Amino acid sequence: MLTWAEINLNAILHNLRQIRNLVEPRGAKVLAVVKDNAYGHGALEVAKAIENENIRMFGVATVEEAIQLRQAGVKKPILIFCCILPEQAESVVYHDITQTICDMSICHALSMAARKVSKNAKVHIKVDTGMGRIGVSYDKAIELIKQVINTPNVVIDGIYTHFSSADTDEDYTNYQIDRFNYVLSCLKKDSIHIPIKHSASSSAIINYPSSYYDMVRPGIALYGYSPFITSKIQLEPSLSFKTRIVYIKEVPAGFSISYGRTYITEKATKVATIAVGYGHGYNRKLSNKAEVIIKGKRAKIVGTICMDQCLCDVTDIPEAVIGDEVILIGKQGDQVITADELASKIGTISYEILCGINANVKRIYNSPEKEIA
Ligand SMILES: *Cc1c(COP(=O)(O)O)cnc(C)c1O
Repeated sequence: MLTWAEINLNAILHNLRQIRNLVEPRGAKVLAVVKDNAYGHGALEVAKAIENENIRMFGVATVEEAIQLRQAGVKKPILIFCCILPEQAESVVYHDITQTICDMSICHALSMAARKVSKNAKVHIKVDTGMGRIGVSYDKAIELIKQVINTPNVVIDGIYTHFSSADTDEDYTNYQIDRFNYVLSCLKKDSIHIPIKHSASSSAIINYPSSYYDMVRPGIALYGYSPFITSKIQLEPSLSFKTRIVYIKEVPAGFSISYGRTYITEKATKVATIAVGYGHGYNRKLSNKAEVIIKGKRAKIVGTICMDQCLCDVTDIPEAVIGDEVILIGKQGDQVITADELASKIGTISYEILCGINANVKRIYNSPEKEIA
């Protein structure tokens, strides 16, 4: 195999324990976010590795992701964060999946689907306190909740909100927390009890203990990255992305490399072809920007990244030979390349770099160590 990703499940267990150490003393449990194939780490493998680690539930984006977990034997509750369409209500009920709702239309569809099979559909109410994506506006939340309560075969298991700027804007985040607290206080006044109140994803877990409530929803932190530089929590990246050198050539000065001739050598150069390209999710915008690690040393990507191959300058690594392992993300010797490093080079975030690694890239897993209770 020439190109692959290695997933260190122990790192995910470590990150989970770091998060638990922050939130459990405050009475909160963890919903582990495994949407988008666990940010490229493999939803089934990640879910299996952590299911018995005092996780309260799993979070996914779509019905298909939730069903995949159920079919793999995941028993814990699974919350779908995104909206569904009414025709998906039956699958949600059939697989005992918990659905986010923001209005009555999906609530009615779930109610009908549940009634048909004499079950109850479980829902979490999503409140928009300022994210502006999905959710019932905070000042209309109570009205919606009262309607949902009066809908047969639908049970409200949770209520939540999502922050837009918990990594960058303290005032705005506190304003969102205040709005959510306002909704919770109205519920209390009306003696409406909703079991699970939650709001924090990774940024807020690190920065806002007041946002923990009953449950937190870490995604990126589980996989070892923080949305910002912090020493409050020690995270360990889980994923390494690797390929191999498949060809080496010496070229003279003035020699053009790859499509569009975006790189012209300034001197005699030893160029290695490596077996990765944008078809694997190695972003083409990294052309002439990224570095890789070979034999513990850094080498620059030169020329335009192709679909399945790209080139790097190994002039300063004379010991490099065909077959050598090439680290795109990960550690070798004392060099480290993180998803953050790649992200910052092309104006994106670690999330997109990790999710971008194509599903056709084989994931290799270590066997996780057992929890030392
Ligand atoms: C993706 C997502 C999360 C996780 O966010 P991170 O920043 O990766 O921790 C939490 N909650 C919701 C609703 C999400 O969509």
